[in-house]
Parts: sequence; C-alpha cells; structure tokens
Amino acid sequence: MATLFISDLHLDAARPHATEMFAAFVDGAARGAEALYILGDLFEAWVGDDDPSPVGALVAGRLRALADSGVAVFFMHGNRDFLVGPDFANRAGMTLLHDPSQLTLHGRGIALMHGDTLCIDDAQYQAFRRQTRHPDWQARFLAQPLSARRAFAEAARSASAQRQGALREAGTMEAITDVSPIAVAEAFARTGAAVLVHGHTHRPAIHHDGGRTRVVLGDWYEQGSVLHVDAHGMGLDALPA
Ligand code: MN
Repeated sequence: MATLFISDLHLDAARPHATEMFAAFVDGAARGAEALYILGDLFEAWVGDDDPSPVGALVAGRLRALADSGVAVFFMHGNRDFLVGPDFANRAGMTLLHDPSQLTLHGRGIALMHGDTLCIDDAQYQAFRRQTRHPDWQARFLAQPLSARRAFAEAARSASAQRQGALREAGTMEAITDVSPIAVAEAFARTGAAVLVHGHTHRPAIHHDGGRTRVVLGDWYEQGSVLHVDAHGMGLDALPA
C-alpha cells in the first residue's frame, strides 16, 4: 500500500474546480492508500475554525469519510492555513503535525515540512511568519470578529501578490521565493533523514543530491500533484485536471 503526500491545494470558493478535483481524489485514489499527508496550504486562507466556510465544511466531510474508511490522515500547517485548529482537525478526522515532522517508511527516514521555513532569503516573509505564529498574536487575532479576520486575510493576500509582482519586476522573484540551499542542508543535518518532502514553492521536482532526496510537491492550480511512496520506491504524479 502506498502513502500519499500532497500540499498547496489552495482551496477556495473562487476556484471550485480545484475543490472538485480534491473531492474526486479523496473519494477515489486516496481510498487505497495507507495514509494521506497534507503538507500545508490545503486552503487559500483560513481565519479560524469558527468560520462557516462551505469549502471548509465540504473538505472536512470528505476527509472524515476517508479517515473513517481506514486511511490515516495527517495535516501540517502552511503559510496560508496556519490557523487551522484542533476543532477543524477533529471534524476532518485528521491529526495535526508539527513542522518539521519525521516518519520512517520502508526503512527510509523521511522529513516533512511545508517548505516556507526553507525560504530564509525572504526576510520580510520570515518576519511576518514569526509574528503570526506567536500564540499571543493568534489568540488576539482569533478574538476578533469574523469580518475583521476576513479583511486581514484579504489584505495579506493582496500585499503578498503585490510584493510578488515587485520581486518579479526586479528579477529577484526566482531566487528570493525558492528554498535556500543552506536551509535545506540544515534540515537534512538536523533530521538525519535521507528524504525531505515539502511543498510551498510550487516547483514540483525530485532532486537527488549525494544520497539525499528532496521532493518538492506541486500546487493544484492546473492539476493535482501527489507523491506516492511504497515498497518499490516513490513517484511524483500529476493527477488529470
Ligand atoms: Mn505555502
């Protein structure tokens, strides 16, 4: 049986096709898996488990059915959905994972990350991350009314799009928003894993380097991207759109 890894679905009411693709995957291919690991940015935005978002309700229902069918479901926060909390995880039947986490599959150590912590050259983002991952900031944020939280998420989203545009114009987009080789080397050294799986950069690939393997999961904008790991090895598959 295979273990499956996905990330960066960025599900949102504005892109119903991606949600349909995800539902078909969860009800179909994922049913035969041993476990499903969702490594962050399942949602385009998440402002709290109390948000009655229809996409959230649909995803929770489908994942819960998958979990009830015997597939273990794990979730790690991304930079978009870092506020997914224990309530939603319960509803979806999934186990929250720390970033980084580790597991052993078929005798191989595998480290899991969302990938944003590897982008250390993006100092502005790392400062935002430190602020918004602080428990005090999160408690204050979650105490605000839903409308204020939604407005913050919208502002953060357009600021991020604006900044990406500016980086692209300056020609520094590729370098600044990709992983840092130093951070990758540190992640391998710290975890001792032979394989590192992450998403976030939307640059799907399997990189081999001196006995180490770094798998970058793709996003679900045009088609699905799924890593499968089984007794025979691993492969990064593109799901039909
Ligand atoms: Mn991300």
